[in-house]
Amino acid sequence: MLGSRVNKTSILYSALACSLVLNGVLLLNDDSTDELQAASRTTAMQAAETAERSATVHSAVDDVAVAETIPAEPAPRAVSRPEWKIAGGEVNHSLARTLQGLAGDDGDALASVFSRLFVWNLNMTRDLQAGDALAVVWRKLADGLPEIAAAALQSSKLGGTVTTFRWQAPGDPFPSNWHLDGTEVAPRLKKGPITDYEQITSLLKDRPSHKGMDFKTPVGTKVTSPRAGKVTRSNWNWRANGNCIEVRYDDGVLAKFLHLNENLVKAGDRVSAGQVIARTGNTGHSTAPHLHYQLDRGTKTLDPLDYHGTTRRSLDDDQVVALRLAVADFEAMLGDGIAAAQRLAAVVQFDRRDTARD
Ligand SMILES: [Zn+2]
Repeated sequence: MLGSRVNKTSILYSALACSLVLNGVLLLNDDSTDELQAASRTTAMQAAETAERSATVHSAVDDVAVAETIPAEPAPRAVSRPEWKIAGGEVNHSLARTLQGLAGDDGDALASVFSRLFVWNLNMTRDLQAGDALAVVWRKLADGLPEIAAAALQSSKLGGTVTTFRWQAPGDPFPSNWHLDGTEVAPRLKKGPITDYEQITSLLKDRPSHKGMDFKTPVGTKVTSPRAGKVTRSNWNWRANGNCIEVRYDDGVLAKFLHLNENLVKAGDRVSAGQVIARTGNTGHSTAPHLHYQLDRGTKTLDPLDYHGTTRRSLDDDQVVALRLAVADFEAMLGDGIAAAQRLAAVVQFDRRDTARD
């Protein structure tokens, strides 16, 4: 067991070293002075330098040129685009205020994406404390929304630092967010209504006025009935719900599936557990393609997380190696971001241990 881990680790670092050497060669073939300098600043060295630099980094926000991270191979290394930015700082108020301070006008949108990553570990409005620190590697997508490649939160409530990395696992239809040990950040419903989705964008506990769980997914994705039951109605209140289906499960719980593109069952139909009943859409009161899934028992709204139970995926050993390779640059950038935060000793130690070679 230990032998296999050591083996994996040495494979990982051998591969890293190869890729860094290749990066250096690539960059040396280019005339740019900056890139020549960059060639000597390898990713692994960046991580190792983090502690030294922490004493001198004062800027809370860095627009980082990442020419040094151009991948030398078609491996799934996503970092080489210069639009990635690093923000790192101490949590000095709410998450939104903190990120406004670090990322200006993009702070609010960044805070909502960031909080989605950590909501599984913390109550983001109650559990952040003065002196906590965060770092985020992000960019702005064409639609103006932020995408987070890597994030770290040093939390006194959690007693340590949690890091997350966005990566598309082999065979997955979408990138997801992972911890470096290969566990997925967000749990998944056991036998939920949808398996192919980009992200859970709303939980029951987020807003009292919103009674369901939202799954961001492209139009046309399969929706299944998680339990056997009977379709009670469809397409009521089209203006709000768009195409919609309601199923009464055999235990009496009423399930609603809203904003569909296509209904494949009609009122009165029996459905079995796992039967495809619809395709997702963006109909009714909906601003982006998603599935709204809601459960009611009488007048009470149930949390699908509790009703169905959850499971958390983990990568196998080979995939963990691939993950770590793919996100190595982001990991180093996160280290820079954390170095820019105040009160760093504990965090830097954590990061160094995480990237230690022996
Ligand atoms: Zn919803």
